[in-house]
Amino acid sequence: MKRILVSNDDGIDADGIRALAAALEAVGEVTVVAPEREQSAASHSLTLHKPLRIYERGPRRFAVSGTPTDCVNMAVHHIMPAPPDIVVSGINRGANLGDDVTYSGTVSAAMEGTLLGIPSVAFSQIMWRPTPFDGAARFAADLVRQMLERGAAGEMLPPDTLLNVNVPDLPWEAFRGVRWTVQGKRRFTKEQVVEKTDPRGRKYYWVGGSDLEWEGNPDSDHSAVTQGYISVTPVHLDLTNHDALRRLRDWRLDAGGRPPA
Ligand SMILES: [Mg+2]
Repeated sequence: MKRILVSNDDGIDADGIRALAAALEAVGEVTVVAPEREQSAASHSLTLHKPLRIYERGPRRFAVSGTPTDCVNMAVHHIMPAPPDIVVSGINRGANLGDDVTYSGTVSAAMEGTLLGIPSVAFSQIMWRPTPFDGAARFAADLVRQMLERGAAGEMLPPDTLLNVNVPDLPWEAFRGVRWTVQGKRRFTKEQVVEKTDPRGRKYYWVGGSDLEWEGNPDSDHSAVTQGYISVTPVHLDLTNHDALRRLRDWRLDAGGRPPA
C-alpha cells in the first residue's frame, strides 16, 4: 500500500485537510502531520530557535508546534516508520496563484517534500466565495492516484518539480475541466498597503488590502480558475534564470581588479 503524507498551513483542524485526508484514504495509507495552529503565509520557514512538540491526535494523526516545512521534516525524518511515496499539501482555504506561491505555507510543504526527493503536490481551493472542499478533494484523490500509478519517484515528476493545483470556487459538476498552466503575475497597486489611524492618533497599516489586478496571460493559473478550470502548474525549485545567465555573461564582473574566473 502506498504511503501518503498529508500536511497543510491552515492547521490540523482545518476543514480542507480533513476533506483531503478523508478522500486520500481510498488511495493509500494516509499519515497526517500538520501544524498545531494556522501557519498561512509561513512560506518556507523553519523553526530553529525553539523546540518543536509533537501531539498525537489519533492513529497516524500528528499535530506539530511548527511550520509546514517543520511538519514535513518531522514526518519524514522522525514520525513515519518509512518515507512517504508522496507528499500532499492542502487543501488550502484560498488561492495560491502567481507570485503568491513564494509566500505560501501550503506550497512550501510541497517544496520541502521535493527537496527531500519525494514527489509532492499542493492543493488550494479558491475562496472568492465560500465553497465546500468536496470537489477539490475528489480531484485531489484522482490526481494523487494517477501520480502514484506512474511508478517510482523519478517517473512521477521531472526532477526538482512539484505540482501546484488551484481549484475554482465551483461545485464539482460546474468545473469546465483541467488545464496545465504557467504561474500568473499580479500588478501591484498603491492600495496594496492600506493606511489607517488608530484611536490614539497613530498610523497603522494593513498589507494586501485591496483587490488585486492580474496580467491577462491566457495560459496563466489565474486565467484558468477564473474561467472555471482546475489549474495545474509545474513549479521548479531551481530559481536560476538560465536565459539571464547566458545574457549576463558579457558583463565584466570586477572584484577589485582580480582577473575574472
Ligand atoms: Mg493557508
